[in-house]
Amino acid sequence: MLVVMKHNAVQDAIDTVVNTIQDMGYDARPIPGEQRTAVGLIGNDGRVDSSRLEGLEGVLEVIPVTHPYKQVSREWKEEDTHVHLPNGTVIGGEEMVLMAGPCAVESEEQIMEIASRLREAGATILRGGAFKPRTSPYSFQGLGEKGLELLARAREATGLMIVTEALGPEHVDLVADYADIIQIGARNMQNYPLLRRAGQRGKPVLLKRGMSATIEEFLLAAEYLVSEGNDDVILCERGVRSFDNRHTRNLLDLSAIPVVQALSHLPIIADPSHGTGVRSKVIPMARAAVAAGADGLMVEVHPNPHKALSDGQQTLFPEQFEELMTQIDVIARAIGRSLAPGLGASDRVASGV
Ligand code: PEP
Ligand code: MN
Repeated sequence: MLVVMKHNAVQDAIDTVVNTIQDMGYDARPIPGEQRTAVGLIGNDGRVDSSRLEGLEGVLEVIPVTHPYKQVSREWKEEDTHVHLPNGTVIGGEEMVLMAGPCAVESEEQIMEIASRLREAGATILRGGAFKPRTSPYSFQGLGEKGLELLARAREATGLMIVTEALGPEHVDLVADYADIIQIGARNMQNYPLLRRAGQRGKPVLLKRGMSATIEEFLLAAEYLVSEGNDDVILCERGVRSFDNRHTRNLLDLSAIPVVQALSHLPIIADPSHGTGVRSKVIPMARAAVAAGADGLMVEVHPNPHKALSDGQQTLFPEQFEELMTQIDVIARAIGRSLAPGLGASDRVASGV
């Protein structure tokens, strides 16, 4: 439930609404907006007497939030959420953001080389798994903490921000010590202890859509993060299972982008690498995702994909990524957006990170 204040409501009136909600046994969350402030009532069990709030000084109206997810909905907050990172990158604004890098961190040489090429090409965020969720227990599982250290070294050298996955609740603190964005993978979208822990940690979280998750389940998973007090949540469409996996690994659901943007204020990016699973399909679907209005892309790129220890078949060569950047620049501008300026193109400096 949302208590919308009049535009001229004074702070005292807002405080009274907050106190009244708390008095009724619920949590209150003020949501300042450009036009007016609203106060969210959290934990409505259907027994809230809204007339008690409607009568208070400065209250314009009390509106029920009709979706099962509350705080991530546009009903709750109309304006887009912008996630700010320490290197100046903003996710969810007018500028599209590029996250790129190998599936997994494999060695210092590999991550340093790709990081500097990606920075040159205009990416502002480096991806790379240190803890890998592999289908087979015999496949490469990632370098663990050593991988996190290498990512941090790449950040120091390039100014790129780091996004990397936490596989379980017990990993959250360690990953958050190194990463700028904690990634929650598709297989873990409904790992509620992990979501809660990541929500409590206070670092931005990238939440990937589960491979068989509905949009409602996706947004409810995001609600777990936000309900722990973390507003810096980025959603990621990465493809869902379909009946045909002969030509592509997953079905990249591009309609999820405008659907989510209508329902939620959270930014949503697309991952055409896991979304297709096939190198030759990554660039076409990346272009399509930008045209569909994605707030950014996550793309796998490796100095030599043929030698990658995981997901080589869907990983771009650096030259392909550079080509992709020039193409999506045009598409972004055609729909009134632009690519976030690369770190080389502005006066943002690595030492400021
Ligand atoms: C990844 O991005 O490294 C990854 C494992 O992706 P997903 O969780 O979408 O499968
Ligand atoms: Mn991968």
